[in-house]
Amino acid sequence: MANQEDLAKPPSSLQSFLEDLHCKYKPLQNGAVANYIPELAKVDPDSFSICIVTVDGEVYEVGDSQQLFTIQSISKVFVYGLALEDHGRDYILTRVGVEPTGDAFNAIILDEQSKRPYNPMVNAGAIATTSLIKGSGATERLNRMLDMFRRYIGRDVFVDISVFTSERTTGHRNRAMAHLMLNFGMIDEPIDTALDLYFQQCAVMVNCHDLAVMAATLANKGVNPMTKEQAVNSRYVKDILSVMYTCGMYNFAGEWAYKVGIPAKSGISGGIIAVVPDKMGIAVFSPRLDARGNSVRGVKVCEELSQHLGLHLFECARLVKSQE
Ligand code: GLU
Repeated sequence: MANQEDLAKPPSSLQSFLEDLHCKYKPLQNGAVANYIPELAKVDPDSFSICIVTVDGEVYEVGDSQQLFTIQSISKVFVYGLALEDHGRDYILTRVGVEPTGDAFNAIILDEQSKRPYNPMVNAGAIATTSLIKGSGATERLNRMLDMFRRYIGRDVFVDISVFTSERTTGHRNRAMAHLMLNFGMIDEPIDTALDLYFQQCAVMVNCHDLAVMAATLANKGVNPMTKEQAVNSRYVKDILSVMYTCGMYNFAGEWAYKVGIPAKSGISGGIIAVVPDKMGIAVFSPRLDARGNSVRGVKVCEELSQHLGLHLFECARLVKSQE
């Protein structure tokens, strides 16, 4: 197995490693595209791209990393950061917990005692988080959110209206969760106000390159490595990365932490981001999902990258190196 030394290899070797991974996993066709939001089923299931952006702004990419798709659950990470900025850690903790659930992302459950949703990476917690975003009305709140995405990505973003309306029409399960939280006082506004904003955040269009820049921004203490703009207050980066680490990969989060060992988040449109603090952001896009809702090729690619580059946070070679 390779170690931390690989990070110091000439850039061309990382590029050729990505190309090898792309060739290796391109034929893998296991899994199925998400179709519970009807509009998502229209994606080309064979799409496949990988991108790495380092905290120094170097970019390595393979496949069509400019192809746009909706961000879906990956948005939860960044909206959580905005909610922390709006209200501070203590208040946010009274509304959304930080416990992994071991349940599916769309489970209709709340913590029995506190009535809080378990964490901001499952749908219930994400809807509660979104409902905390400040602003004087729906448009201002959406604009604040879009501006937050712009800071992470370095360009203006927009909402795919067909995916938004498709989910708004069919998202009865999320509506049920929102009703439950309204009942327990975890949402303070009409549920459709919260859900509209949530469905819009999920329908923001990004590409694989954008996702890698966003992940690299988290790796770089909240500063976008390309534009140098502070996308999120650095004091909240550790909170964001902690919940990604423990809860980011749905009910696969434990196995992911064990095998890959870096904070990550996946979304049902087929994206995965992974953050190597102080080093790089990784993004993979491939829409075929496994039974837990994670991109099949995305998981494989990240497992291999982690092993090859020695990225696991508790990798001994890495820990020894950082003490030198
Ligand atoms: N908009 C999707 C939902 O709320 C996001 C789910 C996901 O990507 O995990 O069901």
